[in-house]
Amino acid sequence: MTKPINENTQQEQAIVIGAGPCGLSAALELQAAGFEPLLIEKNAVVHSIYQYPTYMQFFSTSELLEIGGIPFTTPNDKPTRREALQYYRDVVLRRGLRIRAYESAISIDRLANGQFRIETADRFGTTLIYEARYVVMATGYFDHPNLLGIPGENLTKVTHFFQEAHPYTGMKVTIIGGNNSAVDAAMELLRVGAEITVVYRGDHYSPSIKPWVRPLFESMVNKGKIRMLFASRVVAIDERSVTIQPNEPGSPSYSLDNDFVLALTGFRPERTLLTNAGAVVDSESTIPSFNPETMETNVPGLFIAGVIAAGREANEIFIESGRHHGELIARHIVELEG
Ligand code: FAD
Ligand code: NAP
Repeated sequence: MTKPINENTQQEQAIVIGAGPCGLSAALELQAAGFEPLLIEKNAVVHSIYQYPTYMQFFSTSELLEIGGIPFTTPNDKPTRREALQYYRDVVLRRGLRIRAYESAISIDRLANGQFRIETADRFGTTLIYEARYVVMATGYFDHPNLLGIPGENLTKVTHFFQEAHPYTGMKVTIIGGNNSAVDAAMELLRVGAEITVVYRGDHYSPSIKPWVRPLFESMVNKGKIRMLFASRVVAIDERSVTIQPNEPGSPSYSLDNDFVLALTGFRPERTLLTNAGAVVDSESTIPSFNPETMETNVPGLFIAGVIAAGREANEIFIESGRHHGELIARHIVELEG
């Protein structure tokens, strides 16, 4: 079936793709510099945060999550997911940011006149076309979990997104991964009487685990309330079991009874839109080519903000750091326009 096309091309000065914290920050900085940027967001604003575990508390203090210089105050030092959702929502509404929500960017092309042509699709399948002098890509990474590529990964009992513990009450749950998502999920699952096995490929606790959570987690492991399998991998998932392979050469694989698998293996930015627009991505590091002083890619007028600027080590950029990309972008665009 052919999709309907809205033939009218909408002209914009600057388009920001992705209304996560870093895209919003870029839009606020552009607004402060006198532009009227348009945000294109395939879901609702800060959709990644919306998908985080329901009762999550940030590791950052609220001050370090602020954007556009707008204060974020919370009763406790570190905000909850709910408080962050409210903050970012309020910022959008109070600053009157222009957002096309539930509209997905599907292509970006640089035209001969230096303008960009952006094609989007709304949730009803209608194609819309925009032209803009500047494009900021801020599409994050949360849509793209690191897949394991093992048999059974696509079973409905497997998820890469933990939300809350209740559905796992009394169930045998295998958690894959050994960083903060895995540890937080295990600690929450304890409260609903789940039988928890954490399967981690590393030999010892990851240094990235939040220092105030690690002792609590370790003590649960030491008390036998959480089974921790170091130097091991899940190599197959079946309806009622998982197969574990220890890393040690020659060690036989074995099977564990299992009801649900939480594969909390982190995320990676997807860059097809960028590369199709002509941006170069280093094949080794997977970092896009960009000027760190301006966040402009090798394609003039095409910028990146937030996690999309990270390489394989995607967690190296997070809200605390990625929120500053907008200032660099806005400053450079003002110079270009000046
Ligand atoms: P995102 O927040 O992922 O936003 C990208 C947006 O782009 C999304 O809304 C998405 O829907 C949209 N999008 C994607 N593709 C398209 C498209 N084609 N068209 C239109 N829109 C599109 N960082 C901290 O600094 N402190 C913390 O305490 C912290 N806690 C965290 C807890 C968890 C559980 C996780 C998973 C991460 C945490 N992080 C934290 C990291 C932080 O959330 C990310 O670094 C941050 O979300 C990155 O912001 P972003 O704007 O680059 O991307
Ligand atoms: P992560 O930090 O990227 O950790 C992913 C884990 O999965 C690592 O232990 C990794 O092993 C393992 N892994 C990755 N690929 C694998 C594979 N193919 N097979 C087996 N194991 C694999 O992801 P995350 O824990 O989801 O955290 C993502 C981001 O969210 C981080 O910035 C984190 O700090 C943040 N976060 C914050 C909070 C909070 O503030 N409350 C909570 C959760 C997450 P290695 O260790 O060997 O790499």
